[in-house]
Amino acid sequence: MKTQWPSIVWRSALLLASAMAAPAQESYDLVIRGGRVMDPESKLDAVRNVGIRAGRIAAIRSTPLAGKQTIDAAGLVVAPGFIDLHAHGQDDENHRYQARDGVTTALELEIGTLDVDAWYAAREGKRLIHSGVTVGHPPARIKVFKDPSRALVPTGDGARRAANEEEITLMKAAIEKGLQQGALGLGFGLQYTPGASRWEVLELFRVAARFNAPVFVHIRHMGDAEPDALTAVGEVMANAAITGAPLHIVHITSSGLKQTPRLLQTIAEARARGVDVTTECYPYEAAMTELQSTLFDPGWQKVLGIDVDRVEWVATGERLTQATFAKYRKQGGMVIMHMIPPEVAALAIAHPQTMIASDGVITNGKGHPRGAGTYARLLGRYVREQKALPLMDALAKATLMPANRVGLAQKGRVRVGADADVTLFDAARVIDNATFKEPTLASNGIEYVLVSGTAVVSKGALVGGVMPGRAVRRAVQGRLAEWRGAGLKRQRAGRVFCPRNSASTGRPESGIPTGGTGAGKL
Ligand SMILES: [Zn+2]
Repeated sequence: MKTQWPSIVWRSALLLASAMAAPAQESYDLVIRGGRVMDPESKLDAVRNVGIRAGRIAAIRSTPLAGKQTIDAAGLVVAPGFIDLHAHGQDDENHRYQARDGVTTALELEIGTLDVDAWYAAREGKRLIHSGVTVGHPPARIKVFKDPSRALVPTGDGARRAANEEEITLMKAAIEKGLQQGALGLGFGLQYTPGASRWEVLELFRVAARFNAPVFVHIRHMGDAEPDALTAVGEVMANAAITGAPLHIVHITSSGLKQTPRLLQTIAEARARGVDVTTECYPYEAAMTELQSTLFDPGWQKVLGIDVDRVEWVATGERLTQATFAKYRKQGGMVIMHMIPPEVAALAIAHPQTMIASDGVITNGKGHPRGAGTYARLLGRYVREQKALPLMDALAKATLMPANRVGLAQKGRVRVGADADVTLFDAARVIDNATFKEPTLASNGIEYVLVSGTAVVSKGALVGGVMPGRAVRRAVQGRLAEWRGAGLKRQRAGRVFCPRNSASTGRPESGIPTGGTGAGKL
């Protein structure tokens, strides 16, 4: 017995020494050193070192970490990457603008697409940032009614004609197919499809509810002219209550206009009574849409509360006159409507119910500045300059709240095990530069943007030659093995995930190969 003591002590001492040495010797693909980590979920707000390995956050510590590559984050906020729930811009051009604004996940949820498999297939391996889509009612109407529209929304029969039973059945089948293909939910643009009956919409909510899929709605009416926005909110809230489908009302300010405060109150009350309803807004006082859409049907001035002089033709930046309105309406194209009262925009941005989402799309450099400046504008103008809301609350609106809305349990957080989608910005300098005249000017102060641990923005500039973005898609029973092999079998139906990244399984141990390259070029 005597002789064993020294050896036990010696071995214990060795074990202790190696345990103490382990953190410093551990090597990460990338270390973010000495940044101000802000996590809206845990409310952590402190200087930490963050270790990233295989596309995930592997360590958050106050002690030093060693990595193959290091970002010196002194003076920078280290936040979850921004998740844009309303990003119509879904090509490389738009993803570049979004990345420079801190966005790591851009989702097209309001209008969606019809062929969900094709949408994802077309983007495979070509994504700078993560992206995903809903199956959409507007494209279903375009198809079923053979609408001539070349825009996102129908402009002919698909917009205005009521559907018969057979056509509703066709749409239900199309929506069901999209949900089976892993669409992130169901999208509606009800103001663009006034021909859709209440019954048609309710029937489609029922389909979404069967998949427990969220429904994203641009509501049927706008502002306080009867039939008003409150009536329109009532329609979809009733559908959510009847069917149980989770409901998200998009761009509450541009739909609500002066009625927005009342809509926000109504949403909060419905939530308190158990209705799963959420909403969003963008930090601008102007909307954008297609001039040929039903929004500009006769009587639009009363609905929008503006006249032609507040409508801007995107192609040239000119304000419209009666004559140019008529000419361009025949021609078709995008217009910006300067119609959201500034006090409404400010109130909604700071309101606890709202998430921030851009509603942006830029085409060949033309569009609304929200496509390139939404998040820096939130952080620079509303948080820093106007002190309209605390920084942590603003980050929650751009990260945690949207992640939870879509079911992305591994995104929207700076947490060990979470996806390494991280945005580093200088809170003292961050500001949007995009304007209505120059909508593509990149934001300042967004210094590093990591997508699954790979830098797509480094030292404030885009990194070339990397495409770390992945599909964000719902796992639906029966499709799992087909997508990514055995690793997905343990996912529950209805969970959302990034293939090879297990974005939201809620279980980092799920066995999905990460396939990430770890740190990219910095
Ligand atoms: Zn909309």
